Amino acid sequence: MPVIAIANQKGGVGKTTTAVNLGASLAAAEKRTLVVDLDPQGNASSGLLPAELRNTARSSLYGVLFDGAPLASAVVRSPDIAFLDVVPTSEHLLGGEVEMASLPGREQRLREALLPIRDLYDFVLLDCPPALGLYTLGALVAADSVLVPVQAEFFALEGLSQLMENLELVRTLNPSLRIEGALITMFDGRLSLAQSVAAEVRGYLGERTFATVIPRNVRLAEAPSFERPVLAYDARSVGARSYLSLAVELMQRYGMNAPVSEERKGRAAG
Ligand code: ATP
Ligand code: MG
Repeated sequence: MPVIAIANQKGGVGKTTTAVNLGASLAAAEKRTLVVDLDPQGNASSGLLPAELRNTARSSLYGVLFDGAPLASAVVRSPDIAFLDVVPTSEHLLGGEVEMASLPGREQRLREALLPIRDLYDFVLLDCPPALGLYTLGALVAADSVLVPVQAEFFALEGLSQLMENLELVRTLNPSLRIEGALITMFDGRLSLAQSVAAEVRGYLGERTFATVIPRNVRLAEAPSFERPVLAYDARSVGARSYLSLAVELMQRYGMNAPVSEERKGRAAG
């Protein structure tokens, strides 16, 4: 089971949108998927779970990371999509990074918490905050690979090369961390800038750039206000289809052949 961290220290590049909608798309292909929201902003939690469900687990993610509660006790089932589980963030994580700095084994806590549940899932996605703080570090130590959303805009490559340097440092703690790939997000094909950025990212990361490109699509931006992934909001939108192709591309990389049928998409959308 791959654990994939979705990380980029740059803010607003589509990390959470990717965690939410790739997670939902993998689940729609009947892959048992867990999304862990490591960002105290809680956007993945609110994009996947209605408010009344967010605090229904026996433990919080804070309890898992700081008090050693089992991760399984912090899991909430998605009400919209079968095969999809969520560990919502907890408000206590805000400010917790300072507290965490003095904890023994701080970078290893998430990795250890994930060990007992590895067999229960086909994919685990870790949504990271926009900083290289202790939560992101914990995710990169826990992960097998890192998926880097890159917004097709001017300073994209600068952020990307900074991240790659930081990953070298992380490898001292997690030598087997792989780069799953860069994912071009919010792409607008009408802009030549977007096209040249996409080409530059491909030039920089080569085959590790996903062939799937996520277009700018208003449905992707609207779905979170309905507390649902786009598949459960507008399964026929370009945004929903692009994340389904990303899921297929990812499954193929892992030798899983599970094309997403129209019928399944329909069922996922309820
Ligand atoms: P942060 O760094 O704050 O965690 P992020 O990297 O997780 O941000 P998102 O929250 O996924 O980024 O996206 C930033 C904003 O852009 C959100 O309002 C989201 O709805 C919107 N957005 C993301 N992807 C797309 C897209 N493909 N098309 C249109 N809007 C998008
Ligand atoms: Mg986010």
